[in-house]
Amino acid sequence: MSVLVTGGAGYIGSHMVLELLARNEDVVVIDNLCTGNAWAVPAGATFYRADIGDAQALETIFSAHDIEAVIHFAGLIVVPDSVERPLDYYGENTCKSRVLIAHALAAGVRHFIFSSSAAVYGAPGLEPVVETAPFAPESPYGASKMMTELMLRDVSAVNPEFRSFCLRYFNVAGADPKMRAGQSSGRSTHLIKIAAEAATGKRDRVQVFGDDFETPDGTCVRDYVHVTDLARAHFGALDYLRRGGASMAVNCGSGSGYSVREVIAAVKAVSGVDFPVERAPRRAGDAAMIVADSTLARDVLGWAPEYGDLETIITHAIEWERRLAARQSRA
Ligand code: UDP
Repeated sequence: MSVLVTGGAGYIGSHMVLELLARNEDVVVIDNLCTGNAWAVPAGATFYRADIGDAQALETIFSAHDIEAVIHFAGLIVVPDSVERPLDYYGENTCKSRVLIAHALAAGVRHFIFSSSAAVYGAPGLEPVVETAPFAPESPYGASKMMTELMLRDVSAVNPEFRSFCLRYFNVAGADPKMRAGQSSGRSTHLIKIAAEAATGKRDRVQVFGDDFETPDGTCVRDYVHVTDLARAHFGALDYLRRGGASMAVNCGSGSGYSVREVIAAVKAVSGVDFPVERAPRRAGDAAMIVADSTLARDVLGWAPEYGDLETIITHAIEWERRLAARQSRA
């Protein structure tokens, strides 16, 4: 029996593959390499360079391997891009997920784990958000994730053997503590990645997108979760489904909020580099504050972040950035 990881050449997917291999799972990866890298697929996994919307490729994979579970990461993730190009996001994230779900169902897959997002809540307000909060996405990205959650919910309702688990990620950052994986996409827009790039000389400044939000220092507050902790939460979800757990969705965050200015100050403190910071206009679709209530993940999965503090997340992100620079200068 194998676990199929979509997007296993990408940032979170590659950490998931490491986690699965460490637990002696047989792992199959499908990734079209639109943002991922073939070198990022950990050795030991069987890799197919193919698109999750390619029915023929899926047929090949599902007939060549006895896939028991699918962990689905493949998708587009840049919120402002989704505002500019909504149909691309609905096509890649929603329509192709439908193709994947249909093939998984036809192949008798029993467990489907989906990388969802806090973006399904939109702007939930200044309190930690609980899973019972209504869907209110404010971007096509968030809506594309919500639609996939709804497809999974509805498919599970009429196929009791097919159970799904959606993890709603807050702000994922950091890198594998052993530095076997990290965030490698040159197009990332995520704050800790951007600030780590500035701290390692890859960019000359960091922009702060808006400092007039209703928050203590005027900049947006986010809940940062370490990518390795997140991968472990997925393994917990797989274990839960294997034990017969019912379909559900849970938040994955640390429960602590940090402002953009606090994150930038922490990156400067950890790196010892005082890079320039400038004010910039607000970015489309940004909510003032998004922090998780992660009680449910703790209760259901027994999940507690091991690398939860901001300094550890930033230390790993910076170290990965240094190694990536060395890799790129060798190439
Ligand atoms: N941000 C910023 N400068 C950057 C990148 C991000 O000020 O170069 C802000 C962004 O506006 C948001 C927060 O940092 O308020 C987190 O953004 P990110 O893109 O990391 O994640 P998101 O919360 O959008 O998923």
